[in-house]
Amino acid sequence: MAQNDTLIKGWQPVIGLEVHVQLMTNTKLFSPAKNQFGEDANTLVDLIDLGLPGVLPVLNEGAMKQGIKFGLATNAKIAETMIFDRKNYFYPDLPKGYQITQLHYPIVRDGVVEVNGKKIRIHQAHLEEDAGKSIHDKYDDKSVIDLNRSGVPLLEIVSEPDIRSASEAVEYLKKIHQIITYLDISDGNMSQGSMRCDANVSIMKPEDKEFGTRAEIKNINSFKFVEKAINFEIRRQIKILEANGAVEQETRLYDSIKDETRSMRTKEFANDYRYFPCPDLVPTNISEEFIESVRKDMDELPEEKQERFMSTYNLNEYDAGVICADKQIANFFEEVVKDADIQLAAKWIIGDLNALLNKHDICLDESKIDAANFSELIQKITDNTISGKIAKEVLEEIWITGTKVTEVIDSKGMQQISDEGELENIIETILNENNNQVIAYKSGKDKLFGFFVGQVMKATQGKANPGLVNELLKKRLS
Ligand code: ADP
Ligand code: MG
Repeated sequence: MAQNDTLIKGWQPVIGLEVHVQLMTNTKLFSPAKNQFGEDANTLVDLIDLGLPGVLPVLNEGAMKQGIKFGLATNAKIAETMIFDRKNYFYPDLPKGYQITQLHYPIVRDGVVEVNGKKIRIHQAHLEEDAGKSIHDKYDDKSVIDLNRSGVPLLEIVSEPDIRSASEAVEYLKKIHQIITYLDISDGNMSQGSMRCDANVSIMKPEDKEFGTRAEIKNINSFKFVEKAINFEIRRQIKILEANGAVEQETRLYDSIKDETRSMRTKEFANDYRYFPCPDLVPTNISEEFIESVRKDMDELPEEKQERFMSTYNLNEYDAGVICADKQIANFFEEVVKDADIQLAAKWIIGDLNALLNKHDICLDESKIDAANFSELIQKITDNTISGKIAKEVLEEIWITGTKVTEVIDSKGMQQISDEGELENIIETILNENNNQVIAYKSGKDKLFGFFVGQVMKATQGKANPGLVNELLKKRLS
């Protein structure tokens, strides 16, 4: 994308994202407590998560492997030695008074992802522990704390300020989402908070040599809000600078109801975290052999899957790209085509199924569609049991109810009419009823052929086999 495409009123937005990804490990980053979402409050808490004195954290090797996988998937450097630091601050959901994170020696440095052909650099990705959760809306007169999330492993992925528009930020975020779900290191569920994003936004004139002062918008939890929050922030900064004001370096919050960002704290009140190496954890060396063993254990990446789909299933690049954009859909496709026609299945997944998923804004495993049933739908089109038009109705039905395709077709009598005798009778009736059109057709008004087909389809509620109707009509009218 040329830089100028992204100018707004002559201003160039500059954006860097910090993405927090909850890793899917069995246990927490430094404790043996289970890492699970949705359990009763404070049931998954070890003494280490409580930060009691005298207990020592032990690094979860699984989390380390997942961090390395992300590094390998983004062509990054994996640390030979990584060091954990304490980031000190007080907050009720952080009983230890510090968060263990990685400041100067992160597990991953200098990665890159490609978004619409443009390279966006990843400054670093580091391991850290999540905090607990303050709950303010459960009781009228008090706030309470759930520490189940305390100590859950996070990978914080920090981009360079290479992003130039709100929509590019969303594309980048979707790419990160695709990578982490393909690697199976996170479920990437933004509404449950397993993927959260801070957006750093500044603006500059294209001719400026230095970036402008940035504001950081904290904790945005949907793709849509990322785009809206950044766009609001760009407009806000343009207004300030065009009125000869100065943008303050500050932390802001996005209010999705009012669609605006609001100041949370300015630089003056910024925390001094007094980082220092955590004395409870020794520096961790990561050997080449260890990295290689992780590499061997890695799942197929999006581009690899896309290429395999092109060669194995003979899909074109675009179709393979759309299907592989989402790992769930790609796996679903492979299940479906075990028994169904490949190209037809691809067409229906890319078209109608994707449209339904988008319309309802859910992912495939949240829907009632399963691969075996969807495969049945495609097979029923291929063997002429139903037409494409009826198949759309069947899809709508199984989308809502999850009923078996064969049952829907049987119970609603949706089978296609492919009986020649029956169709000939219907055609005969229609031609008799439309004598004038028949005369007009025979005297050269070819376009009327479509009218006759339409009448047959109407008379059969769309169930006539269209190919056969065409054939029989041609024969009868010639
Ligand atoms: P800090 O040390 O204060 O966290 P960093 O330099 O590490 O700041 O940057 C944090 C994030 O802010 C990164 O994602 C980076 O790309 C982004 N960033 C830095 N400077 C700017 C800027 N002027 N405009 C927009 N984003 C920026
Ligand atoms: Mg930061």
